[in-house]
Order: sequence, then C-alpha cells, then structure tokens
Amino acid sequence: MKTMLHSISIIRAGKRPQRGQIMIFAILALVILVFVALWNFDLHKIIAVKAISQNAGDSAALAAARWQGQTLNLIGDLNILQAAALMRGEPETAATIADLQARLCYVGPMIGLMAAQQAAKNNGIYVNTDFTDRVRDHALTVRTFYPLATGPSDQPLFPEPFPDAWAEYSGMIEAVAANGIAAAPDNARFYTDYGGDHTLLDPDFYDAIAGRYWCWFYFNHPGLLSSYSRYTDWPPLPPTFTLAQPINSEFFSLDLVRLDLTDDMAVFEVMDSLREERGLSSTLIIATNLTGVTAAWYAYAPDRWTAWDAISPTNNPSFPLAGPVRPEYNYAGADAAIRIQSTVPRRSPGAPSSTLLWSAAAKPFGSLGSEPQRPDAAGLVLPAFHDVRLIPVDASSAPAGGAFNIAWRIHIEQHLPGYMQSGPQASSVDSSCGYCRQLITWEDPSFRSGGRSWLASNSNTCDVAGGPGSPGGGTRRGH
Ligand SMILES: [Zn+2]
Repeated sequence: MKTMLHSISIIRAGKRPQRGQIMIFAILALVILVFVALWNFDLHKIIAVKAISQNAGDSAALAAARWQGQTLNLIGDLNILQAAALMRGEPETAATIADLQARLCYVGPMIGLMAAQQAAKNNGIYVNTDFTDRVRDHALTVRTFYPLATGPSDQPLFPEPFPDAWAEYSGMIEAVAANGIAAAPDNARFYTDYGGDHTLLDPDFYDAIAGRYWCWFYFNHPGLLSSYSRYTDWPPLPPTFTLAQPINSEFFSLDLVRLDLTDDMAVFEVMDSLREERGLSSTLIIATNLTGVTAAWYAYAPDRWTAWDAISPTNNPSFPLAGPVRPEYNYAGADAAIRIQSTVPRRSPGAPSSTLLWSAAAKPFGSLGSEPQRPDAAGLVLPAFHDVRLIPVDASSAPAGGAFNIAWRIHIEQHLPGYMQSGPQASSVDSSCGYCRQLITWEDPSFRSGGRSWLASNSNTCDVAGGPGSPGGGTRRGH
C-alpha cells in the first residue's frame, strides 16, 4: 500500500498529465499481476509462516480473514486512486479502477478460500469429499444457472457485476474445488439462499424437539405449543433468489455496496475526510474539482457493518462476547467462518451428531484516525485494516446451522418445501434425515401436549443463564 500512497504524491507533484495517467495504469497492471501471481503461486510457504494459531480451523479462518482485510485495503486504496484520477479529469481511468474493484470483490475472497484450504491441510486436515462435491456443484450452478436465471418480467436475476463475471467466478470456484476442500467456508451466503428467518430454518427448533427442551419453546416461541395444530399453520417459507444486484462473493463476502453518485455532497464530505486520513494536500479543492462528475465508489453495506451488540436478537441476552467491546472494534461485516468435519463411522445414518466437528471464525480489524474510529466511519472503503483476530463463531455471519452443514442444507433445500406443501406425508420428507424425523415427532399432538403440561408446572425452572433450553444458544457449533 505504501507504494500506492507514494505514487499519489508523485501524481500530485507531476505537472504533465501523461505522467499521472501512465502511473495509474502502471499501478493497475501491478495490482492485477500481484493477484494473478498469488492465485497461481503455491501459497503453502506463505501460510506456513503466517499461520500462528494452533489448530487447522483457527489458522484457516485467520488466513481467509487476512485476505479479506488485504482486499479491503486494496479496494480502499483504489477509491483514493479513483479520486486522484477524477481530480485530474481522467474519467476513463476512474471507470477502469471501479471495474478492478468489482473484480477484487470476488478475487480477493476466493484467494482467501484457497489460502484457508492450504492452512487447514498444513495442519494435517484431509480433503473432505462432501465439502468438495458441494463446492464443485456450486461452481456448475454459477456457470450454467446464474447467467440464464430470469425473474418474472424476464430481467436477469443475477446481473454480472463485471463483464464475464460468472464464467470467471465459477472458474475460480472450480480451481479451489480441484485441489479439494478441507476447510468449508461456513459463512457462505449463496445468492439462491432463503432471504429471511423462519422457525423451520432454525436448527435450534429441531434440537429442542429432539431433546424435549421445552424451555426453548418457553423462551423463543411461547404459545406455539398451544396454538399449533397442523403443518398448514406455518407461515410460508421466506423467498429464495432475493438478491437484486450481486456485488459480493458468496464465499467470505466483503459486505460492500457500490454507490453510483453524481455531485453528491456526502461524497465530497467523505473525500474531505479521506484527504485528512491519507495526508493529501489541503490545497486540493476536491468538492470543486468533482462537481458534475459521476463515479462508482465502494462503500460498506450499512446493514452488514452494524455494531456487534446490534446483531444480538432481543430474545438473546447472552451475546457470546465477554465484557465490553472497544468502540473501534465494535462492528460486524466481512468475517470468515470455517467448518472442519472429519469423517467418523456414522451410528445412525443422516444424524448430524455422528461427525466430528471443529469450527472457528476470524475477522479483519482496523481503525481510522488518531482518535481510533471504526474502519467504516467514513462510509467509503479506506485502507484501514491492520489486524486479524479470532471471533466467537456465534458472533460471526455464519447462517443458522452453517452453510456447509450438508445434512442440514439438504433438509432445508430438498425436504422442507415438500413438507410445507403436504406435511409429514410428503414424498420429499425423508425418514433417514434426522431433521425430518423431528418434524414427524412435532406433528404428533401428544408430543406437543406433553410439552404444554411440562411447562405448566415447570416453566419457573427455565434458566436464562444456561442449559440447553436457554435462549443464549452457543451450543450449536463445536469449537
Ligand atoms: Zn429432512
């Protein structure tokens, strides 16, 4: 990053416009070359040196998060370069920079995915065939389905964020799968995922049925045991394919948005703060220079970069962090959750408990200014990340159940829609699926009346502070 900052001062100092233009293109070429080189280069040695954690899950999560931080810094530097290009009246250069940023939103996290595999393998974890198949299948979906998927009025469901995006992105996914997946990206958010919450999409519901944790109902769904009579009572499942504009990789998303702005005062203000951040000359009148200019900027998605305590649902008082979080570290967004699952003989086929599971999560951290502020304080992405830390998995962006809990994914994607249509008799409901078996139990009126009568006399023993029925959770994932 130092090279780029130095170059900006060269651009400012240079009197001839050609010089700045050449410099910016030289930097762009360099950035592309570095990424291409890293993509092809065996990351083994780098990661072996940098992996400081003791187990494979931790080092895989840290490796992925490190690439997230480095990519965010690069995108931030490119925001600054874009401002510099616009100041010099070079809109084509600015557009090229925005295009490069769009690619980095995918390439950076995918290098993180590859680095995570190396880190896990270096720590003695073998390739997991289920994970590998799932990733390879997804590459095929990206290649064949995403370019063709259309909505009700024939509009593309997944418009490409840059030319040939789906071909390039699926190629990268295939390249990672070809080497085998040992560390699954458990906070992957697929464009085809459910876009909302539902009790039937909460693995804790199934756990509560299996373990007769009546207190879970008491805390999370008081009244459900009484009001429920049959499967038609459920509200519909949330819609899938809700994504309007793909910007972020499905794996290790950077949680960014693209702002296309013309003459927006907010951008001028951000540019002013940016000038202070990077020590740009105060003689540059940015606002005047940028008037009438339309440009695309990469900014933090405000609904993802929320304060950490805000992601704790109201019914979940025991947020999994001990003690107060320093303000400059109190933000979600752009993290990496890893699932490592070793194959052990299954005693009951389909049961999720018959595998040995490790999970870990990490996140890039950074701050802006001498009075440390959150890295997203300015809205626009700036090079602010300088650290990577492990975070509690339950505080990560991994969806309920995890993106690579294969049995769970098969249940919610293939079994659940049939159950919603025709109840437990549906042909898609599979008695070899542990989750389907809990649904069949749930449909039994005597099961629910048993819970009602237990709670009628024992609900005072439900303990907020702990226990499997408590609302705090944290028991779902192994550590
Ligand atoms: Zn099922």
